[in-house]
Amino acid sequence: MIEKYEFKTAKEGMRLLVLAAVHGNETAGTKACQRIIEELNQGKIVLKEGVLTLVPICNPEAYRRDVRSVEENLNRVMTEHKNPLTYEQKLANEICPLIKSHRIVLDLHSTHCQGDVPFAFCDYPDEYNKKLIAGLDVGYILEGWPDIYKQQGAIQDYSTEHCAHNYGNTATTLECGYHKAPEAAEIAYQAIVSTLAVFDMIEKDAIRAYPKQHIKMECYVIKEKEGRLCRDYKHLDCVQQGETIAVYDDGEKLYAPNDGYILLPNLDAEIGTEWYYLGEAAPS
Ligand SMILES: [Zn+2]
Repeated sequence: MIEKYEFKTAKEGMRLLVLAAVHGNETAGTKACQRIIEELNQGKIVLKEGVLTLVPICNPEAYRRDVRSVEENLNRVMTEHKNPLTYEQKLANEICPLIKSHRIVLDLHSTHCQGDVPFAFCDYPDEYNKKLIAGLDVGYILEGWPDIYKQQGAIQDYSTEHCAHNYGNTATTLECGYHKAPEAAEIAYQAIVSTLAVFDMIEKDAIRAYPKQHIKMECYVIKEKEGRLCRDYKHLDCVQQGETIAVYDDGEKLYAPNDGYILLPNLDAEIGTEWYYLGEAAPS
């Protein structure tokens, strides 16, 4: 069902897996994978050690329909299913063994608002993630996603990062910016090249380290009843302690508990779902 492209060398080295279009309409990573595959085939990029596997389209049916998912969010069911019940669970059964057999996973996503700033998630920080993230051309790193869900006792985190972590491997999720911005595919491409370089899989010039703001996610806020956000918040907008972020129709207000950032605000959130997240600056 899924197509993978494997580039092996004779020399032992890192095993890197690149995933794209886990969400079918997030195609920046797909374009980047296709470009890398072409350049490898043409000899413009030469792998000197290790194994590189690319899956340019992890959710083929969602990709064909240009939608996020077909039956459910593939990035919430990334675990091995004994009796797969949905299309995405079947895909997860194909992708999990690949995650298991690669030490590093780079999972390429994009976001749905024009002007969105690229950033990366680092759910399970370790030395591999740190190395990989240092070379990414993004200004923000979000940490602590699994912790807030654990603390607030909600969904099971069957993401690609959790899956890799569970197998003793390491994954990073890169959100390359707005789906349709041409820069998003460029950021995804640079991320693959930089990851190949930091793990010595290709010849490299000096690796550029980009300055970053690490943000620790503090909580998520569920929209409990009808209401609205007080302004047209964008992901990574700063909020000040005491600022009114949202107002319910019955007059109840929700405030920012501290100075920090609003993350992933969803102006169209349905009742009972995540409305926005809050985070604070963290040391890198
Ligand atoms: Zn996504």
